[in-house]
Amino acid sequence: MSETSTTPVRLTRKPERRTPPGPATGTVPGSGKTACIRTFGCQMNVHDSDRMRRMILDAGYAEVTRYEDADLVILNTCYVRENAVDRVRGHLGELTRLRREGRLKKVALTGCIGAAEESETLRHQFGIDLVLGTHNTYELAEFVGLPTMEETYTPELPGTGGEHSAFVTIMTGCNYGCSYCVVPMVRGRMVCRSKESILSEVDRLVEGGTGYVTLLGQTVDAWRRDGERFCDLLEAVAERAPRVSFTTSHPSNMEDRTLWAIGSRDTIVKRLHLPVQSGSDRMLKIMHRGYKAERYRRKIGVFRDAAPEGTLSTDIIVGHPGETEEDHEATLGLVEDCSFDSAYVFKFSPRDGTEAATLGEPVAPEVSQRRFVEVLRGIEGNAFKRNSRKVGSVEELYVRHGANEDGRAIGETWTGHAVHLKTEANPGEYVRATIESAGPHALYGSLCGSPYGDLAPYGDV
Ligand code: SF4
Repeated sequence: MSETSTTPVRLTRKPERRTPPGPATGTVPGSGKTACIRTFGCQMNVHDSDRMRRMILDAGYAEVTRYEDADLVILNTCYVRENAVDRVRGHLGELTRLRREGRLKKVALTGCIGAAEESETLRHQFGIDLVLGTHNTYELAEFVGLPTMEETYTPELPGTGGEHSAFVTIMTGCNYGCSYCVVPMVRGRMVCRSKESILSEVDRLVEGGTGYVTLLGQTVDAWRRDGERFCDLLEAVAERAPRVSFTTSHPSNMEDRTLWAIGSRDTIVKRLHLPVQSGSDRMLKIMHRGYKAERYRRKIGVFRDAAPEGTLSTDIIVGHPGETEEDHEATLGLVEDCSFDSAYVFKFSPRDGTEAATLGEPVAPEVSQRRFVEVLRGIEGNAFKRNSRKVGSVEELYVRHGANEDGRAIGETWTGHAVHLKTEANPGEYVRATIESAGPHALYGSLCGSPYGDLAPYGDV
């Protein structure tokens, strides 16, 4: 998708902007009920919050952004991050104070902590009015005064609408049992939504002006239904939506034909996020990942053949119990071989209820820290080299985030690179830009026709 022409052109292929269905964000209506939703954690939670937002709006609430302006506060929580429960406790303490002062009526706790054992303790300690897990978010409807929703499982609920980009949940839960992960505990086993239901949601979104659809699931490429697999669904969505992406994948489910589809379909962003976690077969076995490093390398080879300019990202855990120097060296070797464009590198921290929390002596913190830095350096070195190759190219960018107060916006190339640039284009619009410089985490560009060098690297170190 990159090219060498420098003709200034502002592309017009974009969805018409629509005003999102009107939360009075940041303002307090003169009368009526108000609610504030605070979201922690991953994109699945963001998506669940969108669903809950629809319910509260349907129930006549106006959305506000500050706790003190709300009649109802919903904390949609994440269990994955370190000290997640402590963080939520802090928020609950603040809400208890507001309630004592008569400035807040009700509190709901939802999401992953709502599904965990700690939720009962929190309910009693802070007098929470409603606790819901990730599997029964729909019960919020009744709580806010809507008719009870008959729902067998969450994915049939439609997601966001009317925005320039939207997430479409195609499956929930996970059938794997990775040693360190709470997802199977809090989100349950995999449930795949029907293709028909997914496609009708995509059609509705595209008709409503959505120009970018991201298919969402914990192991999105594990989707299968009625004899069809993820690639069949992805291709059908790519026929309907102008721009398509998906996250997150599992290496054991990733088929070669999906990788070739990413490379060959014009409407699919050439980006792959494929968490590897470790480069050591011994650690992959301890983690119950279900594949070996060589198999992962082979898949990456197919992706690089299918989409040579595409971006590849991964997740890596350092310091998992039992990780030796030899295992760490194997991870560094894989990082070098795969030349990732970016990665989320995590230092292991135990989660209650997971197998890894019972695996004995953790790796010493200073050793974990050193390994963390070494992996990060390897990733960033390769990413910088790969990003530098883009300098001088002219790219069509989808504006993901409009300009901030400094006038800097963030666009995305068809290869999945983030590009910082100055533009007044709205999110969802396409612009054409020259890539002027590169850092390990992003590219820096200027709109075709605008002066060179008006944007210094920002945030890249
Ligand atoms: S595949 Fe992903 S979501 Fe499932 S258990 Fe492993 S890390 Fe967790």
